[in-house]
Amino acid sequence: MNRVDYLRISLIDRCNFRCQYCMPEGADLEYVKQQNWLTYEELLTLLQSVFMPLGFNRFRLTGGEPLLRPGMVDLVRAIAALPQTQDLSLTTNGFLLAGMAQSLYDAGLRRINISLDSLDPDTFQQLVGGRGRSRWHEVWQGIQAAHRIGFSPLKLNVVVIPGVNDHEVLDLAALTLDQQWHVRFIEFMPIGDPWLFSNRGWVSSEDLRRRIRDRWGLTESQVLGNGPADVFKIPGAKGTLGFISQMSECFCDRCNRMRLSADGWLRPCLLNETGQIDLRTPLRQGKSLADIRDQVAELLAAKPDINYKQRESGVTGSGAYSRTMSQIGG
Ligand code: SAM
Ligand code: SF4
Repeated sequence: MNRVDYLRISLIDRCNFRCQYCMPEGADLEYVKQQNWLTYEELLTLLQSVFMPLGFNRFRLTGGEPLLRPGMVDLVRAIAALPQTQDLSLTTNGFLLAGMAQSLYDAGLRRINISLDSLDPDTFQQLVGGRGRSRWHEVWQGIQAAHRIGFSPLKLNVVVIPGVNDHEVLDLAALTLDQQWHVRFIEFMPIGDPWLFSNRGWVSSEDLRRRIRDRWGLTESQVLGNGPADVFKIPGAKGTLGFISQMSECFCDRCNRMRLSADGWLRPCLLNETGQIDLRTPLRQGKSLADIRDQVAELLAAKPDINYKQRESGVTGSGAYSRTMSQIGG
């Protein structure tokens, strides 16, 4: 069993995109009230007095769309400055990134994952929803800005959906030929829009690797990060390819993470709600930090069993998709 030292922190459950596979347009989503968001002060208190003493030292800011949370650059600066922080990263849709990348870098952030499901602006717009200015171009500018400024490794997340973007897999993989980027293909999960999932299905990482191998060949490789991706490289390419195979290959026994939602729920497993605990209410009620830490330590001790049960039920068998990735903090 892996050491659990990695916390994914959702800053907000809202988003400026409506990705079909995550928050489809028209979905009836209930957002956390703003007064229930953990404040930055509360978050830093939890990190320093609860999580860090229990061995957490790697953190990712996510959402919803984390760049929408006002003042998040100051939070980045504060977390990056904590001596116990060994790694700090961000997952974003990239729409606001061009204007914020330099401030984020100056605040101490070095690693970014940006979602980019298509290289075709029309397909992209259909996937992420919205009208008006091309969202793809804004995101692409964000990626270019992050590249210019020197974020490394720069990771691009692709959720592959049959009949929507799976014909672009080779083009997306080809981005790694000339750039030191890391393109990560994520198997589509039945979270968010069960209709899309049951109508389109999903493509396995093995299938994607076969297509890429047939075109260029593939060798095993490595990339800096905390994730469950299997990493490969096209021979001679500057960048690397990652495959996250939670549908075809259970990695529950390798799980090294917990998730903290924007309203302060600590969740030991992405795929089910077993054992999750509310940290905001006791914090606001003035419960001692030592007591809160004990509660989190208990959850840490229970995690191997939670992982085991999830492993037994399998991703599609858990049936616990009442919340979207944007709500859980993907
Ligand atoms: N808004 C940011 C973004 O899109 O990168 C961060 C939050 S988003 C929930 C985090 C990741 O979850 C994204 O890479 C997204 O592609 C992935 N995701 C969302 N719904 C998914 C699904 N049904 N299956 C697989 N991945 C999903
Ligand atoms: Fe927003 Fe990210 Fe979900 Fe897309 S995947 S709707 S960008 S939270």
